[in-house]
Amino acid sequence: MNKQDYIEGAEKALLHTYNRFPLVLDHGEGVYLYDTDGKKYLDFAAGIAVQALGYGNKEYNQALKDQIDKLLHTSNLYYNVPTMEAAQKALKASGMDRIFFTNSGTEAIEGAIKAAKKYAYTRDGHAGHEIIAMNHSFHGRSIGALSVTGNMHYQEPFGPLLPGVKFADYNDLESVKAQITDKTCAIIMETVQGEGGIYPAEPEFIEGVRKLCDENDILLILDEIQCGMGRTGKMFAWQHYHVKPDIMTSAKALGCGVPVGAFLMTQKVADKSLAPGDHGTTYGGNPFVGAAVSKVFDLFEELHVIDHVNEIAPYLEQKLDELVAKYPCLTAHRGKGLMQGVECQIPVGQVSAKALENGLILITAGSNVLRFVPPLVIEKEHVDEMIQKLELTLDQLA
Ligand SMILES: *Cc1c(COP(=O)(O)O)cnc(C)c1O
Repeated sequence: MNKQDYIEGAEKALLHTYNRFPLVLDHGEGVYLYDTDGKKYLDFAAGIAVQALGYGNKEYNQALKDQIDKLLHTSNLYYNVPTMEAAQKALKASGMDRIFFTNSGTEAIEGAIKAAKKYAYTRDGHAGHEIIAMNHSFHGRSIGALSVTGNMHYQEPFGPLLPGVKFADYNDLESVKAQITDKTCAIIMETVQGEGGIYPAEPEFIEGVRKLCDENDILLILDEIQCGMGRTGKMFAWQHYHVKPDIMTSAKALGCGVPVGAFLMTQKVADKSLAPGDHGTTYGGNPFVGAAVSKVFDLFEELHVIDHVNEIAPYLEQKLDELVAKYPCLTAHRGKGLMQGVECQIPVGQVSAKALENGLILITAGSNVLRFVPPLVIEKEHVDEMIQKLELTLDQLA
């Protein structure tokens, strides 16, 4: 079979929910991916901010192989060792007190919403609470997560969604204040908006929201699914600010390639929220993903991944600033650590497609932002190679 056959086979079999790039990926090594024709690509997308350790890390792969031979799955009716270790490491890294493992980001959001609702229910003795979410946010595709995703285009066909969700503007404290009522149980937001176009929270905003929450006994839910796990130069992006969430979510790089997410909470929330019977999952946190998460935290320490991000990110930022200064079609640059965005006047889908031809995997965010979320283990030479390939791409499109 050749590439065209694989693509046609997939298009006939898979539900057409994605307009995929005409690329059949075969294997990866370090920060490079190879397609079935053997063409090499520099990967600045990392499977949408998942492959923090790049591809083919021997120690990570070995840990997974060992666990496969030992025990894959048990259900949550029993204990297993890898998941206990993964939980302890995640709590140590986050300073949170309790964790629940899920199979994806969207399920982590579902759990966070349920925990917040149950907390308010326990406190007030009745249901019917409201949640404030942000415009241009992204929290996932299941109905609860979609309900707090501030993108009417994603929501429109699927109504009625979860009632009692109100939207405010990100980085606009007054707009959040205006949505608070005596029924508000939670405010949910990304610490750095990802899909919406790479917008980091301004300190006054996130710290102001924390204060509003404290004053009104509202829970702050921070979605760290994309910006967490070292990407911004701290293990979790909220650690850059003088805030701590009551509930936080993680996924994407948490397992560096295995499907795993989590929601974490403080003891205060745990005491008054989900109790036996309130929530569950068959797969969530099985020994296989537990072994992966556990090894990811070990490797972050061994490889000093966060120090590395803080060393390499200023270089990437400097190169992107230079690029914006050089190309009139690039109009703004923002981001944190190895989560960067550049606004682009050329249709960004065209830039991504052309970049692929030039051997660069680059994704977009929102309607006009090029998104840079490479593996966290990239080196300066990879930044240089990316810039050179992107310049070639922009020159061709100009
Ligand atoms: C990707 C993402 C999600 C959804 O995660 P899935 O694993 O795709 O369900 C939720 N929130 C944020 C911020 C994300 O980037």
